[in-house]
Formats: sequence, C-alpha cells, structure tokens
Amino acid sequence: MALVSPTTSSSIRTNARLTDSHGRVIHDLRVSITDRCNYKCVYCRTGEAGAQYPELAIEDYLRLIRVFVDLGITKVRLTGGEPLLRRGLLEMIQELAKMPTPRGDPLDLALTTNGHLLHGLAEPLKAAGLRRITVSMDAVDAPTFERITRVPGSFEKVLAGIRAARAAGLMPLKINCVLLRGFNDDQVEAFAHFARHENVVVRFIEFMPLEEGRLWSPEVVVPLSEIVARINRTLPLIPLPPREPGETARRYAFSDGQGEIGIIAPVSQAFCGACSRIRLTSDGKIRTCLFSQVEHDLYGRLRAGADNDDLRAYILRTVQGKEARHHIGEPGFLKPSRSMVHIGG
Ligand code: SAM
Repeated sequence: MALVSPTTSSSIRTNARLTDSHGRVIHDLRVSITDRCNYKCVYCRTGEAGAQYPELAIEDYLRLIRVFVDLGITKVRLTGGEPLLRRGLLEMIQELAKMPTPRGDPLDLALTTNGHLLHGLAEPLKAAGLRRITVSMDAVDAPTFERITRVPGSFEKVLAGIRAARAAGLMPLKINCVLLRGFNDDQVEAFAHFARHENVVVRFIEFMPLEEGRLWSPEVVVPLSEIVARINRTLPLIPLPPREPGETARRYAFSDGQGEIGIIAPVSQAFCGACSRIRLTSDGKIRTCLFSQVEHDLYGRLRAGADNDDLRAYILRTVQGKEARHHIGEPGFLKPSRSMVHIGG
C-alpha cells in the first residue's frame, strides 16, 4: 500500500496513491449529485418510485472531492440521477475546474447526462470549465427512444442537446447506449451510422442487473461478440489497442477511417481486475463497487465533525476493502441495495 497512514496532509499531497488490497490503483471517482431523474427509462426505473436519497450541499461534495483528489483521484465524473437537474451544478464545475491534482495537473472532469436539458446548458457548462460530456441515448429513432424514456418529445430534445454540445466544443462527445434484446437491439447498425454522421463516439453497454424492477436475465443482454459481428457485416471494424491500462471500452475503428465505436462489456467480458473506480452517492456514501452490498458513510463522518485527516484515513481504509469482482450471472448473485439511478451511473 503506497499510503500507509494519513499522518500529515503535506506527505499525502506529494505521495498520493489510493490502492486496494488487490493491488489496483484507484484514480477514478464518480459522484452522484442527485438521484432525481426526469426520464423513466424502462430498463432503469419502475416509473413509480421517485428520488429516495438526500442530496448534499454543493460545498460538501466539493470538500469531499478535494479529500479524494489529495489521495490520488485524478478523474471525476459527475452523474446522478440526472445531474443537469441539480441547482448549483455550474458553480460546482467552476470550482472543480480550478481544483488541481497534487501533481498540479487539472482534474480530468466529465459529466454523464441524459441530454434532455443540454441544449440550453452546453455553452454554460463549457464556460464553467467542463471539457467533455457523455450523453446517454438508447435509440436513434424517436418512437423507440420515447418508448424507452417514457417522455414525449425527448428524442428531439436530446438530439438538439448533442448538437449543442458539439457546437460548444465539449469534445470528444460520447454517446452511451444500453442494448436490450427485444427493446432496442434493432438499433445497432443505425447507431454505427449515427456515430459517423454526427461525429460522435458511440459506446454500447451491456445491460447489468441494476434496475429498480426485475427485467434482467442473461437472455436480455446483447453481448459484445454479437454487436461486433452485426456491425462488421455492413461496416467492417478494426480493433484498436487500449489507450491506457484498464480502459473499460473495447474500441473499434471503421475500416474506412471515419469514426469509431466502443463496447463496454461488464457482463460477457468483465474487467473488474483492472477496475480503478469508486463512487460517492448523492447522500455521501462511498460505494467501492456497483454491486457492493455495503456502503460507507463518508458524509456521516463529515457531519459529525471529522477533519480532513480523519476523512482521508476513512477513505484509505474503505478502499482497501474494495470487492475483487462482481458476481453477475453466478448462483447466489445478489442485486445491490440500490439501483443504478440511485447509485450514480
Ligand atoms: N441521467 C444520466 C444519464 O442518463 O446518463 C446519468 C445517470 S444514468 C443512471 C447513467 C448511465 O447508466 C446511463 O447511460 C444509463 O443508460 C446507464 N444504465 C442505467 N441502468 C443500467 C443498467 N442496468 N445496465 C447498464 N447501464 C445502465
């Protein structure tokens, strides 16, 4: 373990490295800033349940993120729920854009959104200091999209948001699509064309058992091998090497050199051995794995008066206990206590 004990903040700032007991270096933090969402995607939410967890004040998220960054987090992704619903988001991004890592580099700051409010916010987000953005979009035709989101008019809003983000220079612009057999698996080829036409990087994501209801089964998952085979029939693909160890997406270039797609395959080709992520929920709990059965109440400690050294020690201990891997599809698999929208995707 690189950091044995959080003795002084200055020693931590210069030696920052957050590791777990499996030897993985943790440098990627996902922070949910609300579990409210304006979409009711059929594979994510039941449509009846609303927000279930409190939100912290923006300054409390910032204080906690500062402590994580002191410990070696270099990448912060804001998520939710739907992060664009959160009041104070722009001010939060302004502060994060000014928050250097211990080495003096800027934070790698990103945000994941459903894109519904992005048309009006792309420019302000860029001006606040956000560099890149990921938009979730599960179909490229309006009827299919709106059957999934259960919000009329949502397709046009998201398309306008994507184009506004591109115009604002929030690049590279990534589009995440969760494929489900029987819902939107007919969209694979259309998405490949969309990626090329709209100059965006589309990433297909295998469906994981993280929904509020009960929809997941191995049969609903569209695996990486099938996605690649189908696109290859009309648009030949060339596998690209990973840009960094632990890159979650398998990347492929189109053979004519115009654009690329990625596939994130946590189910058929799990990448837990290279996981560099932890999560902070909207109510300030650390989750060391999407599928954790336990949460660690970091905010509870802050509220009880812990100073930054206490918070660092708690984070170091917690990260040591990060799970080796998930157990999707194995006998006895237990869904986590929270679903994706309440964890922060
Ligand atoms: N509202 C934002 C958005 O739509 O991107 C952020 C939160 S959303 C929960 C984050 C991502 O998780 C979305 O891309 C969504 O499609 C994905 N997601 C939700 N449930 C999932 C599941 N069961 N398996 C895989 N991805 C899922």
